[in-house]
Amino acid sequence: MEIKVKLDVLSGNEELAAANRAKFDDVKLKVINIMGSPGAGKTTVLEKTIDLLKDRLKLGVIEGDIYTTKDADRIEQHGIPVTQINTGGACHLDAAMVAKALPELNLEELDLLIIENVGNLVCPVEFNLGEHLKIAVLSVIEGDDKPLKYPLIFRQSSAVILNKVDLLPFCEVSLENMKLDILSINPGIPIFEVSARTGEGLKDWADWLVTQR
Ligand code: MG
Ligand code: ZN
Repeated sequence: MEIKVKLDVLSGNEELAAANRAKFDDVKLKVINIMGSPGAGKTTVLEKTIDLLKDRLKLGVIEGDIYTTKDADRIEQHGIPVTQINTGGACHLDAAMVAKALPELNLEELDLLIIENVGNLVCPVEFNLGEHLKIAVLSVIEGDDKPLKYPLIFRQSSAVILNKVDLLPFCEVSLENMKLDILSINPGIPIFEVSARTGEGLKDWADWLVTQR
């Protein structure tokens, strides 16, 4: 019974996600969904990405957060349109929440819409939002066991950002093993080794994103 309820929820979400996708495609807007654990550095990656791309593309952001506007407040400082979804307890965004947020953005005027999902390695990946690309952010300090423990997010993503590589000297983590495990789950997936704090590696990621339009 519980499984059936979950399947119904997911199939309802798929319909709404398809409607969102049709809206995006109508105005030729590319949409990415950034997922990862709390503290992986999604917002910092996003801030640095905005600074690298805002002169090349018209950007917009939807911030998913359980309760606060802390991340949206940070994005707003970069002078691009941002709208907030508070899930009020839910640990992931779904297509209905995104559909509700869309009227607050002028989609026709944007080239790239970035959705930051709620911090969580598990269920955000099960709920399509209508996005074109899912992007996983994993910080190296989370441990090199994480790709094999949470394979779905790496299987469904189109690229992985391995963040906080500047902290590698301070943690017992094999970057090589992390990458091999990600590639064993999703062969050929682009992996960007970055430090959002220092800016290292972010240009390659931003350039790749531009090519995906
Ligand atoms: Mg965040
Ligand atoms: Zn959830």
